[in-house]
Amino acid sequence: MLIDSHCHVQFNAYKNDAEEVIRRSLEREVKMIVVGSQASTSERAVEYAKKCDGLWAVIGLHPVHLTSQEVDEEEINFHSREEKFNYNFYKNLATDEKVVGIGEAGLDFFHLPKNLTLAEVIKIQTEAFEAQAELATELNLPIAIHCRDAHQALLPILQKFCKNGRLQNRGVAHCFTGNWFEAKGYLDLGFYIGFTGVITFPAKKTNPQQQLNLIEVVKNTPLDMILVETDSPYLAPQEHRGKRCEPWMVIEVAKKIAEIKNVPFEEVAEQTVKNTLNLFSKIKIS
Ligand SMILES: [Zn+2]
Repeated sequence: MLIDSHCHVQFNAYKNDAEEVIRRSLEREVKMIVVGSQASTSERAVEYAKKCDGLWAVIGLHPVHLTSQEVDEEEINFHSREEKFNYNFYKNLATDEKVVGIGEAGLDFFHLPKNLTLAEVIKIQTEAFEAQAELATELNLPIAIHCRDAHQALLPILQKFCKNGRLQNRGVAHCFTGNWFEAKGYLDLGFYIGFTGVITFPAKKTNPQQQLNLIEVVKNTPLDMILVETDSPYLAPQEHRGKRCEPWMVIEVAKKIAEIKNVPFEEVAEQTVKNTLNLFSKIKIS
């Protein structure tokens, strides 16, 4: 068994066949944490989780949805609407027993809207992130962190939050693609590191060092601090590159970790499931 700790099977990419996609993954013994990115997809994540055994929801507001802009991700383009973080809406949604965490929340300085200055974007994103860290603290839930080109800004916020027993359940740096120095910043605070299909990609000719750095992070991160995920529908592993990603493909991510760490696949599967259950402690597997 594996748990895809971060996927979006409630997104429009699956609007015609979500049920089949979920079934295909469950048949391969892959359970799923369905992560919201805004109000509508958070609600839908809870709806799916309630309907289905082996699915749980994480709810929150992704930084790219705080401003209006074009987003282009691996052949999937969308226009994000401007949404404000409504604390009580998410707090209310989180009362459902199948909601196991808050997120994805964080900072994204890669996708920048054209009509705002960087300082304005930082302010908007920081406020929404802090509000979600506050909610996670209040509800005693872990937080799923999205961070792109912004670790230096995000880590000090987490450090501030983790003081005095706050944000006690910590969280996960989801879809980690940074270097070891950045990864250590999260690990030192007790955060897990989430790896996606990106670890299976070949090095880019234009910047081979980036992939070498990421492999070094996989090597150095203790297996008991690693979560596996797909971030479906994005980032299909190399085996399936170019296709729509589905949660069962998380098998490729676990295989790659086993290869890099030179341990059996079963050990990676067993330990990452254990880690996921440790972090998202509201998950009950019957
Ligand atoms: Zn995501």
